[in-house]
Amino acid sequence: MSKQVIYAIGLGPGAADLLTPRAARAIAQCDVIAGYNAYLKQFPELFNGKKIIGNGMRGEIERCNLALKEAACGKTVGVISSGDAGIYAMAGLLLELVNAEGMDIEVVSIPGVTAASAAACILGAPLMNDFAVISLSDLLTPRQIIVKRLKAVAAGDMVCALYNPSSTRRKSLIREAVEIFMEAHGGDCYCGIVKDASRPGETATVCQLCNFPFDSIDMTTIVITGNSQTLFENGKLFTKRGYIEKYGK
Ligand code: SAH
Repeated sequence: MSKQVIYAIGLGPGAADLLTPRAARAIAQCDVIAGYNAYLKQFPELFNGKKIIGNGMRGEIERCNLALKEAACGKTVGVISSGDAGIYAMAGLLLELVNAEGMDIEVVSIPGVTAASAAACILGAPLMNDFAVISLSDLLTPRQIIVKRLKAVAAGDMVCALYNPSSTRRKSLIREAVEIFMEAHGGDCYCGIVKDASRPGETATVCQLCNFPFDSIDMTTIVITGNSQTLFENGKLFTKRGYIEKYGK
């Protein structure tokens, strides 16, 4: 008999046509779907007729444990996340829990379009060269480690995608991040802000770090800060990789 699997499925940023065919196939095979309530509402028709395990924020461990229990009983289970299931999402937690319990279950991850890719395409092409991804949520990562990483990324002149940039409770780290990047790249460095990428009401803004609109940033927003090679021309934000400097036009 083949080993029992549990799927960690990334749904992509929101639009139905950014959900991969592989993710749709995995969902179709599942008897049980577990997910954050808000994500379950995103594609309700996909989950018709399936047993649903849904709960709210901070319910991740309970949700994954319930999902693993179903899998251990022989059910085909999918744990869904927005974007990619292995980026600030459920795939790693499932692996930790399976290992901690010594379960004979294989976690199979289905990649999804992560928010950074979706937002970069809306803005132009800011992620053309080396870039970093940092979450500004200090719920699970200590604040001083986040700040250390921000400083390292700024010192390395890397473009940076900031996930979880600000919430009603957490507003100060985005201010500190912008200050760190301004110190390294100057206040005129460009920065892209995308809210609800590929969802209804999507908005995209490009600004300079010195004019950063802190009040418009929330948990449905991703911020991409530029570096010394990032330009904003003809309405598009992009980072030069050096092709033309090296080879000419
Ligand atoms: N697994 C997800 C990330 C989850 S962390 C992924 O790969 O995309 C949640 C954070 O991701 C949000 O606070 C926001 O910063 C970002 N995010 C996720 N989807 C987004 C979207 N459609 N538009 C803008 N930001 C998004």
